[in-house]
Amino acid sequence: YYNENTIVYLNGQWIPAAQATASLYNQTMHYGNGIFEGIRAYDTPNGVKIFKAKEHYERMLKSAELMHIKTGYTVEQLTALSYELLEKNGLKNAYIRPLFYLEPTMSLVPVQEPANLFLCAWEWGRYLGDGLLRIGTSSYQRPNPKSCHVEAKTVGHYINSILATTEAKQNGFDEALMLDAAGFVAEGPGANFFYEKDGVLYTCPLGNILPGITRNTVLELAKKNNIPVVEKLFTIDEVKTADSAFFTGTAAEIAGIGSLDDYTFPLVWNNSFGKKLSVLYQKEVLK
Ligand code: PMP
Repeated sequence: YYNENTIVYLNGQWIPAAQATASLYNQTMHYGNGIFEGIRAYDTPNGVKIFKAKEHYERMLKSAELMHIKTGYTVEQLTALSYELLEKNGLKNAYIRPLFYLEPTMSLVPVQEPANLFLCAWEWGRYLGDGLLRIGTSSYQRPNPKSCHVEAKTVGHYINSILATTEAKQNGFDEALMLDAAGFVAEGPGANFFYEKDGVLYTCPLGNILPGITRNTVLELAKKNNIPVVEKLFTIDEVKTADSAFFTGTAAEIAGIGSLDDYTFPLVWNNSFGKKLSVLYQKEVLK
């Protein structure tokens, strides 16, 4: 993720990555209260462009607010810093990782001081690769929305993603598909889920998932291109009658799914809405 030439942003300073350090007493490390984002920049014909920077930083500030974290930054400042970060590192196609982490305290009381801001970036291929994924139903549910703010991109939530990913890999799958607390399909450890059946695209509504920015882009692209989409709750059994399926996420982009547990999606990927949307998505990010 970094080498001796990498420059990162830490609390108002641009410094070599190896010099960016934090206190081991900070509240994020002990209790998981911190906020991060995952954003991509693309080398477009009109120069380097950060895709949906506004949406990502709005979500980040909203997440911070939900977690009682003070930031002291605006969407515009965060966006400008991100462009500066890319420039300082000579990056064109890159993944940007902003993180708000808290000041030292061993208390569970929200930290009053504004959070520390760390910004770094690196070149990153598609997170789930380019091939069709073999996914498995996870025994881990997504966090109960009555236990925490699932719509916030909070550091601590990712223990759930790590457990699900590890279990999926141990069972020989590429990735996990998780249910919500009521037993309906929710999302993957780091991506939202869609399936196609009889010419209609389905995805679950907001409420038990991270409100994915890629999910939203896909919904917009589907609408513009006359692909019918229904947002509804559905079960794993329903997915196992589907024609095709895919994940959406900033890091994963649009990742086709070949099978779920022992069920193989019958529609050839190249003939699916997923493939069509992935071509449209690649055009969209280069606009
Ligand atoms: N769900 C989870 C749990 C995630 O971590 C991500 C990645 N941020 C997504 C969905 C997809 O969100 P986005 O499209 O905004 O990257």
